[in-house]
This record gives sequence, C-alpha cells and structure tokens, in this order.
Amino acid sequence: MEYDYIIIGSGFGGSVSALRLSQKGYKVLVIEQGKWFNKPEDFPKTNWNLRKWLWMPALGLRGIFKLSFFRHVTVLSGTGVGGGSLVYANTLPIPKDEYFNTGSWAKLADWKSELAPFYALGKKMLGATAHPYMSRSDKAMQQLATEIGRPEAFEKTDVAVYFGKPEVTVPDPYFDGQGPDRTGCCLCGGCMVGCRFNAKNTLDKNYLHLAQKAGAKILAESRVFDVKPIGEQGENGYEVFYKPTFSTFGKTQKMTSKGVVFAGGVMGTVKLLLNLKRTSLPNLSDKLGHDVRTNSESLIGVTTFQKVDMTEGIAIGSIIQLDESRHVEPVKYSAGSGFWRLFFAPMVSGNSMVSRGLKAIGKLFTEPWSHLKAFAIDDWSKRTLIMLYMESIDSTLRFSKDFLGNMTSRLSSGPPPEGNNPKAQELARKMEKIIDGKAMVMNIETILGIPTTAHILGGAVMGEDVTAGVIDRDNKVFGYENMMICDGSMISANIGVNPSLSITAITERAMSLIPEKK
Ligand SMILES: Cc1cc2nc3c(=O)[nH]c(=O)nc-3n(C[C@H](O)[C@H](O)[C@H](O)COP(=O)(O)OP(=O)(O)OC[C@H]3O[C@@H](n4cnc5c(N)ncnc54)[C@H](O)[C@@H]3O)c2cc1C
Repeated sequence: MEYDYIIIGSGFGGSVSALRLSQKGYKVLVIEQGKWFNKPEDFPKTNWNLRKWLWMPALGLRGIFKLSFFRHVTVLSGTGVGGGSLVYANTLPIPKDEYFNTGSWAKLADWKSELAPFYALGKKMLGATAHPYMSRSDKAMQQLATEIGRPEAFEKTDVAVYFGKPEVTVPDPYFDGQGPDRTGCCLCGGCMVGCRFNAKNTLDKNYLHLAQKAGAKILAESRVFDVKPIGEQGENGYEVFYKPTFSTFGKTQKMTSKGVVFAGGVMGTVKLLLNLKRTSLPNLSDKLGHDVRTNSESLIGVTTFQKVDMTEGIAIGSIIQLDESRHVEPVKYSAGSGFWRLFFAPMVSGNSMVSRGLKAIGKLFTEPWSHLKAFAIDDWSKRTLIMLYMESIDSTLRFSKDFLGNMTSRLSSGPPPEGNNPKAQELARKMEKIIDGKAMVMNIETILGIPTTAHILGGAVMGEDVTAGVIDRDNKVFGYENMMICDGSMISANIGVNPSLSITAITERAMSLIPEKK
C-alpha cells in the first residue's frame, strides 16, 4: 500500500482526520478537488470577481463558494484546501442539549458527556474566542433583542478569528510556535469572500498546517471518482482513483491505501457514495442519502437608507437566542461585495408560487420608492444587514440518484423546508424600522419558496446496524473495513446551530479511538 489512509476532502472532518492520523504514525494522503488559497491575492477582493469566488470549474470559475440547486433546497458550500472554512462565517456554537438525544444516533452513546472534551479541544484548535467588538450590525441586533422583550438573549458569538492587534503580524499565537504567523483582524467584514488578511483561522492555518508538519501530504486540484475495495470488504485495502479537477482530458491516477476516510462534505461524500453503491461499494447501507437535514434557515437582507457602513466587523459577530429552538444572527459581506443584490426580490408570503409572484409584483407598485431605493443603493453590502434565522424543526430530505445519474432531493419526514418563514419575516420588519431600511429576500426563496441552506447535513448517518445507518457510532462504515465517514454527512440529528464545531468534535472523538500505528 502506498498510504495507510487516503482522506477524500479537506474540510473540517478531513483536516481533523489528517492531523490525528498523521500524529499516530500513519502515512496519510489528503486528496482535495479545489485549489490552495494561501496567498492574499488567491482570494477575490469582492464577490463580483466570480473567477476567484465562485466554484463552477466547467465555466473556468475556480473559487471557494459552491451553489447547488435542488427541488427542495439550495445548498451553499465551500471548496478548496480547507473546505468550507475558507468561505464560512467563523461562528462556532455548541448545540443545545436536545441535539444529543434525538435522531438516529440518540441511543448509541451519552453524546453530551462523551463529546464535551472534544468540543473543548475543537474550540482550542480552531482558536475560537468571543467576538470582542460591537459593530453597527451587532448594535442593531441588540436593539432588536430589546424590542422583542428579550435583551438578555443577545450574545456575542464565539468565532475562529485571530483578533490580536489589527493588521499587526505576530509569530504563531496558538500552537507553541508550531503554527504559522498570524495577523490581527482588520474588521473588514470580508470573511465570506475569503480572508486576505491572515486573520481568519481557516483549516490550512491550524489542523492542515500541523498535519503537513506531521508528515501528511495534500494533493490539491484532484477529484476522487472511484474507490475500489481490494477483497470483498476492503480487508486488503483500497484503490482510490482520481483525475485532475481542471483538465477535461486529464489522465486517471490511482493510489492504494489500507484505509479510506470520506470527508468531502455532504455535497461531495453523499454524491460520490450514491454513485459507488451502484458500482464499487455495493455493501453500503440502503440508508445512504436518507436523513438529510438543514438548519431550516431563512436569509433576509435589510438594506438601510442611511449613509452608514454595515460592513465594519466580522461576518457574524452576535446572535439572539429567540427561544430553545430558534435564533437569528446578523451576517455581513465586505464593502463592494454586492453580488447577491442581483437575486433579491420583495419580501412576501403566500401558499403558492403564483400568489407570491403576484404579491411581489404588487409590492413594486404599492411601495415603489423604497424598493427602487433598495435595488439602486450605492453599495449593497455596505448598506445591508443580512438576517440569518435558524430553527431546529426535525424535518428530513432524502438525496438519491435520478435516471440520468444526477443527485436529486425528495421530501422524507416532517414539515417540508420553508422558503418564507413568518417568524423570520416578522423580525425583518422590526429590523426595517431599527435601521431605516427595506427587507428583501432571495427571489428563489420568496417566489419559488425554495429555502437556502449553508448547513446541509446528514445523508450518511449513524445507526445501530446497517439497516439503521451508514456508519456506526465510531464513524466506521458498515459493510467495509478501515473505511470511515467524517464530515457533515455523519450528523445524525437536527443540530439547530452552525455545524462546523460539531463536525470537528465528532471527528476528534472518532480519531481518538484509532490506535497508534504499531
Ligand atoms: C457562506 C457560508 C457560511 C458558513 N458559515 C458557517 C459558520 O459561521 N459556522 C459554521 O459552523 N458553519 C458555517 N458554514 C457551514 C460550514 O462551512 C460547513 O458545515 C462545513 O464546512 C462542513 O464541513 P465538512 O467537514 O462536511 O466538509 P467541507 O468543509 O464541506 O469540505 C469538503 C471538501 O471536500 C472536497 N471534496 C468534495 N468531494 C471531493 C472529491 N470527490 N474529491 C476530492 N475532494 C472533494 C470539497 O472540495 C471540500 O473542500 C458556512 C457555509 C457557507 C457556505
């Protein structure tokens, strides 16, 4: 075997696996379809630079941000060495208690206490710290919390950002000098177009950096398309096949390893495994693709008419805990990053697409000036506070392959994901008054009624046996040896909060159970 473990994907689960397996003496290769983004100029200055921001390799767009469209949900995800950490908003909450006692993993362990030390370890590794500033959008959220009668529900977020002294570079502040130099955050609000200022604690600055030091190899710009077991259950290892991502006629390459960790995120792992269940990996559980969840998010942009700068700060600096199962966060992009203005439409509600469409057109006539002003605002991102509302409703979707081989969604259990959440809209109306602005919603949500999620989870969930889940409580795939799944697709209940810290903690636990290499 050329490697002990090949890890497919370099997001949260992949990076934790790479470091811990390398530290245990294993020879590790990480294969990542996206690019390295390790120089400031690798990232775009604004999200109008589609070539550097968006991921659509067929069109020559090789950035960090991927959009995937399904019948029931639009999925936002990240690509590149470091996966979703390159594009995410740095927020690292620990879920509420009920998350640990519901879903297909509920009875498999006392998750709250088992995972507690790994949440702490994950926070330390990712450099999570309470956001120390109070930006304009945080102040607006604090006022909103007061207006809804819950001032105590306003909190600062824990975020993976190095604050230090703004724009001052210092030797590694996190890992006893083993990590890279870091620079204090300049509060430009650009976390989600990629941090060009070395302040965001992306995975290439912690887990992957240390994994490389411990011997792991990272092969970027290479997409894995097949994994063949050697022996019926992979008892003699695996052949992993990949191709250069950006070359249509690139030659297929093969590597062999004793074990494989799937860590391509839901959009990578579930899609790949649905293909392989029909071909190379037939023993995979029939539960593959089941129990796909989102955080039931609603995204509403409120554009202020005041000449004020909403971008100052970090992408998500605060949160209002509305109740046990719902919360709202203010999200921002840096100045000039107004790409999303192309997709915003009047905020309406209604049962059918036709009624919502008509209402949206009606609004343009009944409230023409405020809508025109919001559409034509000088710098959309500078003047817009995006409200990210989340609910932990337990509804699930199922991903499967259609006859053309495309991954498609269908409704599975619970209420369908909602594109027009009345509670979120009520909060947005209050925010309109607080910042003197106009609330607008992505047209795909407001008119088509399809919600957007940046937190797609599940599809390869835990279960007691192969009839109940794709992996066991230790992330090992039923039906194969030395094969694990460590990414968002393993999340087996409605997490209710931003998931990256949970993916990190669950992977840390799974890796802690792998013995050192003899
Ligand atoms: C705009 C945005 C903001 C977000 N903000 C937050 C936040 O504030 N807090 C939070 O907790 N979460 C946030 N998230 C969600 C978070 O980014 C994801 O939940 C997280 O990255 C998922 O981690 P993962 O381990 O599942 O893999 P990912 O991070 O999704 O990484 C998977 C990697 O695998 C690669 N890959 C896939 N298939 C293959 C293949 N076949 N071959 C080779 N490589 C492959 C992909 O290119 C990708 O780099 C945000 C997401 C987005 C899009």
